[in-house]
Amino acid sequence: MSDELTPPRLRNDCFAMPQGVSWVPVEEALERLRGVLNPVVATETVATAKAAGRVLATDAVARRANPPAPNSAVDGYGFAHTSTGEGVQRLPLVSGRAAAGQPFAGAVPPGHAVRILTGAILPDGVDTVVLEEDCATDGATLAFDGPVRHGANTRNAGEDVTAGARALPAGRRLTPADLALLSALGVATVEVYRPLRVAVLSTGDEIVGDPAQSAAPHQIFDANRPMLLALAAAWGCVPVDLGHANDSPDLIAARLDRGAAEADVILTSGGASAGDEDHVSALLGRHGQLSCWRIAMKPGRPLALALWKGVPVFGLPGNPVAAFVCALIFARPALDAMSGAGWSAPLAFTVPAAFSKRKKAGRREYLRARLNAEGRAEVFASEGSGRISGLSWATGLVELPDGAAEFAPGHAVRYLPFAGFGL
Ligand code: AMP
Ligand code: MG
Repeated sequence: MSDELTPPRLRNDCFAMPQGVSWVPVEEALERLRGVLNPVVATETVATAKAAGRVLATDAVARRANPPAPNSAVDGYGFAHTSTGEGVQRLPLVSGRAAAGQPFAGAVPPGHAVRILTGAILPDGVDTVVLEEDCATDGATLAFDGPVRHGANTRNAGEDVTAGARALPAGRRLTPADLALLSALGVATVEVYRPLRVAVLSTGDEIVGDPAQSAAPHQIFDANRPMLLALAAAWGCVPVDLGHANDSPDLIAARLDRGAAEADVILTSGGASAGDEDHVSALLGRHGQLSCWRIAMKPGRPLALALWKGVPVFGLPGNPVAAFVCALIFARPALDAMSGAGWSAPLAFTVPAAFSKRKKAGRREYLRARLNAEGRAEVFASEGSGRISGLSWATGLVELPDGAAEFAPGHAVRYLPFAGFGL
């Protein structure tokens, strides 16, 4: 019996913070996470045509060149450049033609021309093509104005990619364009990582898991679970729905057990702080090598990081806005790293602010934002972190620096579009 392949596991204390660390800046928290996370998924071979969104486990190497042979870029007439010059050129046409998929049989003698169509291999004796719109012909002779540039309207073999070249690197998440590239290069199958399985659990006595159910005034519908499951799917992972658990250590433990059995990583929301009702962190602390990272950012309270039966758990805040922002800033690069795609930094660009804001030093702030018609960043009217409508309104986040800062309309701010988070 062959040993079963086991992906690398995380060390029990991998999320531990050094003693005495209080508030951790976002960058430092990201660096720490980056340092401990590796791909945790096995690999498999799949057909290139079925590999969109999958992550390459090995470099993809071109089996043949693109283009494989020199060919014409236009419909026109081909000939040897050396037999042409300045002024009006008149060349006898050989019979037959070169078309895509129907090569010309034989060679074109010097001083002669051949009808050639886009994509046709250049026949022997042809190195230059003149566009048909620039020619006159009576079927026997071709006339056009010289000079014509040597190699005009042709494509060289391998000018795009040469045979044997690395077409795409390991870690690449394959796009539709990548499938075109690999197919053109004769790469029929690719070795990819299995998709990361991401389990999502909501916690809280007040939560009603299903919006089709009735809810008493003291209850609220579960907003985080559908959001986090959809984020996981958008990030190329397989979402595993662990449902909702009341604030009972036994119930939460049972769900985490299921998550550890069925998934590679678990995202929870709610109960992640250090209060009386913070059952997720209490449970993880008792059984799961908990490390609470107090990250100096708004929104977001401590991020609970732990291993449950060897499976990493990200304890996100319950507040939907905080859960969303923490998922984008921390969970996404972490999931990418565990998926084999490598650590990912969000796309960010500098735009003028369309708002005023003063912030104190000591924490980074993420505001729900969108670009207006002038390309300026507007922010959602209320910073209240319970305002889920603001998340829906936003098309990105404005990231305000850790230090004290004051912004007025026109000041440069960092805008992180949701599209840059793969959304
Ligand atoms: P917690 O982190 O458990 O203290 O929750 C913080 C806030 O987020 C509370 O107002 C909770 O009611 C709310 N909350 C927690 N989980 C969810 C959820 N799944 N959907 C919507 N709101 C939630
Ligand atoms: Mg709670």
